[in-house]
Amino acid sequence: MDTVLDTAFFVAWFEDAAKVIRLRREDLTRLDAAIGDADHGVNLDRGFTEVRKALADWPPASPVQVLVSAGTTLIRRVGGASGPLYGSAFRQMGKALEEPVTLARFAGAFEAGVVAVERLGKAAPGDKTMLDALVPASRALAQAVHEGLEPREAFERAARAAEEGTQATIPMRARKGRASYLGERSVGHEDPGAASSALIVASLVTVAGGMPDGMTDDVADGADGAGG
Ligand code: ADP
Ligand code: MG
Repeated sequence: MDTVLDTAFFVAWFEDAAKVIRLRREDLTRLDAAIGDADHGVNLDRGFTEVRKALADWPPASPVQVLVSAGTTLIRRVGGASGPLYGSAFRQMGKALEEPVTLARFAGAFEAGVVAVERLGKAAPGDKTMLDALVPASRALAQAVHEGLEPREAFERAARAAEEGTQATIPMRARKGRASYLGERSVGHEDPGAASSALIVASLVTVAGGMPDGMTDDVADGADGAGG
């Protein structure tokens, strides 16, 4: 039987991502200081804090609602390029998601979210953006589904791919976003958006690790987590 990723799983994903982004806020901002305007950590911390608040104030009834709510909040509350990009990614992921959510369906929706970033940002892997983490993560997820892996192992593969993709941005010259204004001087620095994407994907591992084997929809329906 396929493991079902339920509403509580998706709420926990955003809770954990918000926590990690808070912890790593200064690191992300330092990366953005090198090739941007030093606001990426602050932008995302503000956005994900608002996401947590929205999920607590207006408890979602389904995984789709979690993703659409999170995406809408990020679009509304985050200034800078990354708000609309992440916001659209989560909204599209939500719209593409079929319930009950199996790993295969999640992987399909994740890809739809990544495509939304590509369209909105008019960027591709190699441009030194979040896509350099997200595209490999999406491919790794699809491959893991193909191999029939359990969510936790699939997410570990995706997280590793995102981290490797982030490291691979260091020698790249930025072709999109603020960093592109630096031209050659953008070389030698890790892209902040790729770094935050890797953190968000890594949160999937943390949350799946906390999931009992074979957890299904009717287990653990308390979605209030640490919110409130
Ligand atoms: P801003 O650049 O407006 O200050 P942030 O600092 O919050 O916004 O986010 C910067 C990150 O956004 C970059 O590191 C990059 O990963 C991502 N980014 C910027 N422009 C694009 C784009 N056109 N397509 C994809 N990602 C982009
Ligand atoms: Mg910035």
